[in-house]
This record gives sequence, structure tokens and C-alpha cells, in this order.
Amino acid sequence: MGKSRVVRVGGVPLGGGNPVVVQSMTSTPTVEVAATVEQIRRLQAAGCEIVRVAVPNAESAQALREIKKEVSVPIVADIHYDHRLALAALEAGADKLRLNPGNLRDPDKIRAVAQAAQERGVPIRVGVNAGSLDTRFLQGQRVTPEGMVKAALWEIELLESAGFEDIVVSLKAHDVPLTVEANRLLRREGDWPLHLGITEAGTAWEGAIRSAVGIGILLAEGLGDTIRVSLAGDPVKEVEAAWEILGSLGLRQRGPSFVVCPTCGRTGIDIAGIAQAVRERLKPVTTPISIAIMGCPVNGLGEAQRADFAILGGQKFGTIYAHGQVVRPKVPEEKLVEEFAHLVLQEVHHG
Ligand code: SF4
Repeated sequence: MGKSRVVRVGGVPLGGGNPVVVQSMTSTPTVEVAATVEQIRRLQAAGCEIVRVAVPNAESAQALREIKKEVSVPIVADIHYDHRLALAALEAGADKLRLNPGNLRDPDKIRAVAQAAQERGVPIRVGVNAGSLDTRFLQGQRVTPEGMVKAALWEIELLESAGFEDIVVSLKAHDVPLTVEANRLLRREGDWPLHLGITEAGTAWEGAIRSAVGIGILLAEGLGDTIRVSLAGDPVKEVEAAWEILGSLGLRQRGPSFVVCPTCGRTGIDIAGIAQAVRERLKPVTTPISIAIMGCPVNGLGEAQRADFAILGGQKFGTIYAHGQVVRPKVPEEKLVEEFAHLVLQEVHHG
């Protein structure tokens, strides 16, 4: 399988073997500029590299202009139903458009958007969603991988016939096997960068697992140039989950990766509480480091010696390791988090 083509979103390259890009979407009403800007900044601080905002009406397109003045991360305008909103979003400075072929179906209007986007060098994502698939592509009432691919190809051909090539594609469903198969099929049809996601995945817990399975399968097969984890709730969680997925596959790492023992009858300190507290304390860290928090020497010794930083638990105490060496033996349990976080932060900031 060859590489996908490169498409630039603002200053961020998608595809062509570039690192898989993390993106998310704001949940604030776009017309509330201050709240949206604040959320975009929080997303960016968590490692989000492209942010999408909904543009459901002309006022939102106007708000986009104000939002763009306040933020540095590339902004994608999410467009449904009305191509004039796409034109307005381009005017307002959107760095990318997402068009849904399920509800924007007039070829002339789509070509008009393509032309306006072309003039500004703005890419378009053809975003097919199982929930809004055009009935032309249903099999009876059923959404199939082939139908989703056909829906995408229909719009891609329209854009390409207008000479437009900066195309990104997404095929998303809540159903993981459906999403996986649709993306596999699409990849055989062309080299457009793929935006991966499992849509309407759920709240943080089940949604993160569902997304990790679906996105993870495709990434492991070498598919996917950007990912969006869709979770109900604070979108910062989407970004955290996306990084966890990329880290698990060894594709990219941002901040600490954690090895934490599951605890058992040998455990003599509150491993889960300590790990949670350490994770919170180290949230500002973006340097890739490995951290092990282990209950006893059974597996803990090896993990502690291999990690950049580690806590190896005993009975009501823990020993702190750095780079495989003991640096603080037998620290009382209640002081462990503080001493450990201090040590890591000191080295990350000054090392
Ligand atoms: S590292 Fe020790 S405490 Fe943790 S699960 Fe393994 S045996 Fe139990």
C-alpha cells in the first residue's frame, strides 16, 4: 500500500507518512466566541492539533472570523445542508471544510464550494457518516461498507471533476466492523488522506474503548492520517484518548506513558490512588517519558529498572527510581506522590 497524498490544513500536513494528527471538535455554541476560544485553547494545551467547529448558521460563520483572530491552531468548519455556509466559512478564514455528502447533494453547489476553496488553498474533507448516509447508497435500510464508500466516491468525483485535489476523507459509523471495512475498501480506491473516527462512540469510558478498537485496528494496518475520538462530554477527553491510542501503538507519544500494576494481594500501598495523583500532577508535561508505578518487586523490579522514572511499592512505603537507579529509598506512602512528582518535574524542566 502506497502512502497517502499530502494535504495541508493551515500549517499542519496530513498524509504522506507525516505523523498522525490529533484533532477534536468544540462542544460550545460557535456563536459564543469567548467560550469557544477558551475551549479551543484548552484543547490545544492538551495536544489537539486541528480543531473543528460547527457552523450551523450564518452567525456561526461570522463568529468563526472572530475566533480565528484569537487562536493559532487550524480551524475546520463543519458544514451540513447549506453550501452558502461553506462559502461564508471560507470568507471567514476557515482552514478546512468538512462537507457531508449525505446532506449536501447539489453538484453545482458543491462545485461552487470547490472553486472557492481552491482559490484559497483550503482543503475539503468528504465526511461520510452512517447516520446521515444518502438513501441512494443504502441497501434497503442497511448501511454497508460499500454504500459508505460509494457515497464518498460520489462527492470525491464531483470535487475532482472541478479540478479540486486537496481532499481528505472520513467514513464513520458507530459500528466498529462497518467503519473498519469501509475504510479498508476506500483505501483501495485512492490516496486521499484518511481521517479516522468511530462516531457517536459514547461517554468517556465506553467511547474511548470503542474508539481505541476501531481506530487502533486501522492504524495498526497502516491506515489513517488524522484521528478524532468522538466522546460525549468535555472534548479535552477526546484529545487525551487520541494520544493514548497513538501511544499504545507506538506511533506518537506526548507526555508520560504509564506502566501501572493492576494490584493484587501483595500490594502494600494505594497504587491506583498514587497513579491517579501522579498523572494529575504531571499533566503539564509534554516530553515523552515512561513512568512505572508498581506494587512489589515481582514484576515491579524489572519495570522500575527500565522506566525513566518509577515507584516500586513496599508495605506503606515506596522506593523511587530514576533511569534504572534507586534515588530515594523507602519514602513513606503519604509523601510518595509529592516527592516523585517533584523529582520528575525538576528533571523534565531542567534536564
Ligand atoms: S507488581 Fe506485585 S503487587 Fe503489582 S500486581 Fe504484580 S505481584 Fe501484585
